[in-house]
Amino acid sequence: MGQVKYIFVTGGVTSSLGKGIISASLGKLLAARGLSVTIQKFDPYINIDPGTLNPYEHGECYVTEDGAETDLDLGHYERFLAANTSQKNNVTTGRIYHNVITKEREGEYLGKTVQVIPHITDEIKRNFLALGHNGDFDVIITEIGGSVGDIESLPFIEAMRQVKWDLGHDNVIVIHLTLIPYLKAVGELKTKPTQHSVKKLLESGIQPDILVCRSERAINNDIRKKLALFCNVPINSVISSMDAKTIYDVPLLMRKEKLDERVLELFKIPIGDEPELIQWKAFLTKLKNPTQEISIALVGKYVELHDAYKSIAEAFIHAGATNECKVSINWISSEDIVQENVAEVLAGNDGILIAPGFGERGIDGKIIAAKHARENKIPFFGICLGLQVAVIEFGRNVLGFKDAHSTEMDQMCKDPIIDLMEEQKKITKKGGTMRLGAYPCTLKTGTKVYELYKSEEISERHRHRYEFNNEYLEKFEARGMMAAGINPDSSLVEIMELKNHPWYIGTQFHPELKSRVVEPHPLFVGFVKAAMEYKVKKEK
Ligand code: GLN
Repeated sequence: MGQVKYIFVTGGVTSSLGKGIISASLGKLLAARGLSVTIQKFDPYINIDPGTLNPYEHGECYVTEDGAETDLDLGHYERFLAANTSQKNNVTTGRIYHNVITKEREGEYLGKTVQVIPHITDEIKRNFLALGHNGDFDVIITEIGGSVGDIESLPFIEAMRQVKWDLGHDNVIVIHLTLIPYLKAVGELKTKPTQHSVKKLLESGIQPDILVCRSERAINNDIRKKLALFCNVPINSVISSMDAKTIYDVPLLMRKEKLDERVLELFKIPIGDEPELIQWKAFLTKLKNPTQEISIALVGKYVELHDAYKSIAEAFIHAGATNECKVSINWISSEDIVQENVAEVLAGNDGILIAPGFGERGIDGKIIAAKHARENKIPFFGICLGLQVAVIEFGRNVLGFKDAHSTEMDQMCKDPIIDLMEEQKKITKKGGTMRLGAYPCTLKTGTKVYELYKSEEISERHRHRYEFNNEYLEKFEARGMMAAGINPDSSLVEIMELKNHPWYIGTQFHPELKSRVVEPHPLFVGFVKAAMEYKVKKEK
């Protein structure tokens, strides 16, 4: 297409308005019109990446193919676009400063005073444009984290102003996502907070091109006119974004509001045919018309904040729709599970998933839940720490290694069935040093996972330091706990699968990271199906 087009998405009035979903929805619509699109996120915090953040602070850490630990919004981008992102798609203030300070030490600015403007803003601009250099994309959407007016996002806003000036209004547009609150007492939607946040942008030299207005109620024509008048945008560039039933409705709502058409007009790209959304609509139809319902117990330690397991929850939505089944997740804190109450706490569920995690807290409850699923033949899915817990349980209760544990929890344990990976032993730094990103895995024929993937060679994403200790493998396999997937290069166990059980599978990798709306993940599809079958059997 020639010149790459850049769309910046900023937020105003409050955080949590769903910039990620609006960016992903717009990306989806443009991609469905045949454009090649990627989405990136710029976050104003000082951590180099969110890998070192507690999930309670920031929700899930999403891992890309190339092993970047990123913001959970990148998960939405991938799920909506069915395309991979990379290290370059998530940049923080910390990364920008790190780059500038490294260059300063290397002498790149020799003789100069290094300052926020131009050095930090130049580095931000270089990163804004980085994905546009090799001709892969027609459109690059950049979501700016935080809200307009935050002190910490000012350099991003200034860099955005400069990019708009450098590349011109035909090539760079700014979409401002804002809130139109409804005041019950007067029965009115209020535009003033939006007027103020647009003024804030104007103070920084930026006139937004399009306003996307979040509201609980429909915004009528008078409100649109008022916003257009006070915020200097044409009335058809005031886009209403009402609260939706599911995030997957948003692309269609934005289509109805013609957000994609406004963008194309501003870029002077011919509008052409309707976007191709056949598969997307088919998914929504299935999602909204389930013929069955199941409950899955998600056992984890960050369950108070559902965002900590965002990709797992979304993978269940995709797999549920495929099976025309509504999947309800029961969020269960593993700290609440003890041997005496496990049957009661997990009762009523048709499948048990043990979530990824780190550290000692809540580990016993997870082990008890894995035992409960194994003994009662309840479909079980263990992800990362969930797999590790399942093998510790099997080691203790079936193989008789009473002290079996992971050296993450007990460094001195007698039977380190889960142990630190060899290459991790010399690592002391915490940031970005786990086994991260995509690795190949060879599946054993004749296993359930092979049947589900329908392939011998797969590739999945990882984020861990510990692994199954292969010294114990023979003993496990002799009793029916099989290594169904192995890394072909390192022999690291990637999947364990229990024989003589309807569905008991643990993966060292994170399958949830690769589930997309139009490509649900085979393991989630299989797990949901097994839970549906379990429910039918249970009710007979
Ligand atoms: N804490 C475990 C490890 O580092 C599991 C990690 C995870 O569940 N992502 O190996």
